[in-house]
Amino acid sequence: MSAPAPEVLGARVDAVRQRIAEAGGDPDAICLLAVTKGFGPEVALAAAGSGLVDLGENYAQELLVKAPVLAGAGHQVRWHAIGRLQRNKVRSLAGIVSLWQSVDRADLGLEIAKRAPGARVLVQVNVSDEPQKGGCAPDETADLVARLADAGLDVQGLMTVGRTGEPADARAGFALLRRLADDLDLPVRSMGMSGDLEAAVAEGSTLVRVGAALFGPRPSVPGSAAGAR
Ligand SMILES: *Cc1c(COP(=O)(O)O)cnc(C)c1O
Repeated sequence: MSAPAPEVLGARVDAVRQRIAEAGGDPDAICLLAVTKGFGPEVALAAAGSGLVDLGENYAQELLVKAPVLAGAGHQVRWHAIGRLQRNKVRSLAGIVSLWQSVDRADLGLEIAKRAPGARVLVQVNVSDEPQKGGCAPDETADLVARLADAGLDVQGLMTVGRTGEPADARAGFALLRRLADDLDLPVRSMGMSGDLEAAVAEGSTLVRVGAALFGPRPSVPGSAAGAR
């Protein structure tokens, strides 16, 4: 799978920023996280080459392949871990990940605190009550945030994956994430993907995670039950 040409990728980045603006957000203030999961290192290289500095990966094995390739090419990017994470993967990722976005349980957080003391994390919340989605329950969020902070982690905010279906259906969940983050005084709200970023921006997203709208459809990820997600 070849990477989009620089002018194609540049136009898509502009188009995403335009969508953010049209949804009422400030494209200079909202972090655009380029999700390269499912693609090879050439796509991550293209993203970095186009000036994107925040890159997201779901799978440890992909991150471990791509991070050294980009570092070797002289790109300084920030890697975000955005997928469901097993505790036994934390150690190998500890020196690479800049923001752990999908911390949804205390034992995972404690492992991150042990391997990467003081690391920056987000707590993933399941705002749509869909069992296949990761995340702690909304009413467990405050307790988990407190436990992670006690473990010395730098809890910067909350993350969620919007309800599957029509983008408008995701909006109530995004509003809930915003309320939870505000109640806890947490500045970062990671919400919104290619299909529902307008709804997320309208509800106060500070970080959108975008794959398909930048890189096109993903090749299927081997060994992943989540498939295209
Ligand atoms: C795959 C994925 C994204 C990006 O999804 P697109 O629809 O390609 O924009 C964002 N966040 C998470 C957690 C993902 O797994």
